[in-house]
Parts: sequence; structure tokens; C-alpha cells
Amino acid sequence: MKKITILGSTGSIGTQAIEICDKHGIEIIALAAYSNVTLLAKQAKEHNVKTLCIYCEQKRSELEKLVDSDVTVLTGMEGLKTIASMNGVDMMLNSVVGMVGLVPTLTAIEHGTDIALANKETLVAGGKLVINNAKKKGVNIYPVDSEHSAIFQCLQGNKREQLKGIILTASGGPFYKKSREELADVGVEQALAHPNWSMGRKITIDSATLMNKGLEFIEAIWLFDLRPEQIEIVVQRESVVHSAVEYMDNSVIAQMGVPDMKIPIQYALLYPERVDCPTKHLSLADYGTLSFDRPDYETFDCLTACIKAITIGGTKPAIVNGANEVAVAAFLDGKIKFLKIGELVTKALENIKEKDITCVEDVLSADEQAREYVRKLIDEGEN
Ligand code: MG
Repeated sequence: MKKITILGSTGSIGTQAIEICDKHGIEIIALAAYSNVTLLAKQAKEHNVKTLCIYCEQKRSELEKLVDSDVTVLTGMEGLKTIASMNGVDMMLNSVVGMVGLVPTLTAIEHGTDIALANKETLVAGGKLVINNAKKKGVNIYPVDSEHSAIFQCLQGNKREQLKGIILTASGGPFYKKSREELADVGVEQALAHPNWSMGRKITIDSATLMNKGLEFIEAIWLFDLRPEQIEIVVQRESVVHSAVEYMDNSVIAQMGVPDMKIPIQYALLYPERVDCPTKHLSLADYGTLSFDRPDYETFDCLTACIKAITIGGTKPAIVNGANEVAVAAFLDGKIKFLKIGELVTKALENIKEKDITCVEDVLSADEQAREYVRKLIDEGEN
């Protein structure tokens, strides 16, 4: 029986992953969540999990009251690292939100545990370290994100050296075709109304600004060893074509399916098996038409900032990511307007100098510097 640990178990990816584990008899060894003690305790009870981590330290006693006395309750980054270095685990699913995912990923790699990766920031900020260390340790990284899963699926059975490039698809988000004038006063509720995907709050805002696509652009570079000019971003409004690859003979292979994360989650967890999955069947005839378009790089400046960041390299991607995390949180708190997110990310990109990455501290300090920079701008009245 396959054994798994899940970081971010109460989120959208985590809860769907547990459903997949149930269906296919994968044993859950440990679970971690940010602050949702009620759901975490329920998951532990239902799946007989004896090791839990609640990231928010102050929630520890609340969780301890909800679980059996033989359950180990961990907290904070130390707790995540303890889970990431558990013995006898075949795979760790990392589906936490934000930069907090980087260190647990590196810890699991150090321990030789394969990773199903749903935490974008791990590769965006620490791509070089993560990929180099994984190679050294012979650790497999299975992408969970629908686009990267699609690319990974399209690469199966073909020669990597004959790959010409990839087509990274984007839904375009809730503000597709909108101008900057139209976006000046959009509120949190409008930004959270994604047309195709139901996801957590942070990633949904990132989809509205197209930052999400920028992060995925950077992730793809690391996962598939690509150069920026090998990636074409195409808006695929229906989110049915999840991405595609192009080979030297100009043949393009795409992966399609209904927009349901259970397909890529299951592929990562059960790779290389393709077995029954609790999702709808894709009827192309029901869709009738699939549409394709170019993204609007001027309106959606977060996307442009990400591409510039990875083209420059070093800590620049960590800088745009850190800046974005603070800006998105401020937008969700009603402190800044929607378009300010892109402006702050672009300012951080332009004004914070990059460094080479030689160790995890380089990444963490660039991230902190970007956060400080954006917090300061917001405090000074950038809104
Ligand atoms: Mg995606």
C-alpha cells in the first residue's frame, strides 16, 4: 500500500487528494493544515492519521482537544519539516499556499521522498535549488498543477531532446478582455469569481491578475528545463486544453479534460497508472467550440513582470513572488486597489537588485526584502 503525507490537507487540493487516496487505497501517514483545526481533526479521525501539524502555533491546544490522546500534534515550520522527513513515506503532497512551501519541499528531497507538487512558490522562488537537489537525490517531482500535469502527460513516450517548446494555456480569468480603466475599481468579490475553476482565495486573485500564469511560466522553466522563449502562453477560455507541447516536427500534442483538479491530482498520486477518476467525462461536442487568444501583457502587468524576472534570473522570481503575496493579502484586506497589485510587483522587480542563488537563505532573504519593500510602500499610502 502506498503511503503519503499531505501538507495543506484542508485546502482545495488537499481535500480532493484525500478523496483520491480513499478511492485508490493510499494510506495517509500525516496531515498538515494552516489554521482549520475542525476539518483537520475530522480528517485525522476519518483516516486514522496519528501525526498532525497545525501551522498556527496558537491553534495547538484547540486541536489537541479535538483529537485522540495518541495523536502527535506538531506546529509551525518545525512541524512541517518533521512531516517532510518522516520515514517509510512514498510521497509527500505539498499543497500549502505561498513561500512557506519551499523549506518542506527541500526537506523531503533531502530525505529522498518523492513529491507531488501543488505549491507553485517552491519552484518559482527556489527552482534552482529544488531541481538540483532532486536530481542529486534521485527524487521525482510530479506536478499537480493542471497545466504542468498536462505538459508532463504530453511528454510521456517521446524523446525530451526532440521537444521544441510548450504551449502554456491560461483561462484568462474573470477579467479577460477588460481594460485598465474597467479594472480600476473592481472589488474583491469580482476578482474572486473565476469562470472555470474553484480554488483557494490567493490563487484565485492570482488568476485574475494573471500572476498565476506568470508563476506557472517560471515553474515550467524549472520543471521541464526550458528557456523562456520556448514557452508560448495562449488563452484557452474554456479551460479544456490544459496545455500542449510541440516537437521538432511541428506536431503539437495537447492534454484535454473537463476543468477538474482531480484528474491531475490523481495522475501525480498514481503515476503512471490511468484508472477510474471521480470526474465528468469530457464531451467535446457539448462544448462545440474551443477558443484561443493571446494574453494582454499590458493590462496584466504581473504576467509581464514574471517573464522578466525569470529572464533576468537569480533571486528576481523570488522577489516578484514575495511582493505579490503581500500585495494580494493587502487587496483581500481592502487596503489596496486591484491594479495596485501589478504596480507593486513591477516596482519590486525594478527596484530590488537580484543575487545569485547558492543556498536557501538567499531565496528567503530576497523574499523577505520584497515583502518589506511592498509593506513599506503600502504603509506610505500606495493604494
Ligand atoms: Mg494552473
